[in-house]
Amino acid sequence: MSVTRHVWKLARRPVGDIADGDLAFVEESLPDPAEGQFIVRVNYLSLDPTNRIWMSDMEQYMPPVGLGEPMRGGVVGRIIASRNPAFPEGALAAGLGAWADHLISSGVGLQLMPEIPGIPIPEAFGTFGVVGPTAYFGLLEIGQPKPGETLVVSAAAGGVGQIGKLKGCRVIGIAGGPEKCRFITDELGFDAAIDHRAQDVGEALDRLAPEGVDINFEQVGGPIMSAVVSRMRHFGRMPLCGLISTYNATALVEEPGHWTLILMRRLTIRGFIVTDFAPRFPECLQELAGWMLAGKLRTRQDIRDGLDKADQWVRLLYTGGNFGKLLVRVNPE
Ligand code: NAP
Repeated sequence: MSVTRHVWKLARRPVGDIADGDLAFVEESLPDPAEGQFIVRVNYLSLDPTNRIWMSDMEQYMPPVGLGEPMRGGVVGRIIASRNPAFPEGALAAGLGAWADHLISSGVGLQLMPEIPGIPIPEAFGTFGVVGPTAYFGLLEIGQPKPGETLVVSAAAGGVGQIGKLKGCRVIGIAGGPEKCRFITDELGFDAAIDHRAQDVGEALDRLAPEGVDINFEQVGGPIMSAVVSRMRHFGRMPLCGLISTYNATALVEEPGHWTLILMRRLTIRGFIVTDFAPRFPECLQELAGWMLAGKLRTRQDIRDGLDKADQWVRLLYTGGNFGKLLVRVNPE
């Protein structure tokens, strides 16, 4: 079977914001699958804030994408040819692939994705792939939420706060713009929202959480993080999930340490990468799917059409232009 594919390759490492020409859109032929290999026709590509980290050669948690190599990305698609019995033709495969409309693989980094009646593919892929397990393990394992505690979530239009509500917390979300703030209170059930584009985050926290913050689920960094950390209560916990405000910086950003405050208030701060919890994913996915099917966990996808525009769509993440889990529809299902 001969397949011609389109794929984005890293042409040069971005300096600051991702610019035209950092990635190159290339057409190439895939070889026929050898023994043990299979071909996936990609349906959805996941665009994630960490893509910008992978494009750089800063210290990171997996090797950076090499210059001239296909850009790495999360994908889900249907297997259209296979010489690997563990990945049969017709099944869905999901995991780490490339920004491409077809992949050839021996299975490394990919798993079969079960199709769950009642949960459409983009919702399942968008939630169970990275975002859901990140929220689940970061909050439950590191945040250790207890009923009645105050949880603050930045870049809040996702799953973390809802899990906090399920665990009985009072949840304050920090998001950009009135539409996202309305969404997290009215549709996701958060107790309050702070619009970081229009409000002083520290002042708003003083009003909304005068007793302080027990858990800070940190995704942004910079002044927003400082405002929350300086209002944390004794024995507070901070799952350090992401620092998106720093990803496009031209030089490494080291945040102010707040070391005295961390000591005096006995705070626990732990950075984590969701793959640290990979052996426990089945348990997490079962619980997330149960909550979704019971209507207790709502998710939102922001689906854009056209792999050829992926280098534009990814930039939305760093300006707040996406509203929900950002996916590219690559081939129709
Ligand atoms: P996401 O929420 O869609 O992230 C993009 C959002 O971040 C934007 O829509 C914007 O929302 C906000 N943002 C971007 N730049 C900002 C800035 N300078 N200041 C304040 N807010 C900013 O995507 P996500 O996948 O859930 O990722 C959120 C964070 O979690 C990222 O830091 C990411 O690296 C991290 N993450 C970590 C792991 C892990 O394993 N540790 C896994 C997944 C994600 P607003 O419009 O609301 O400002």
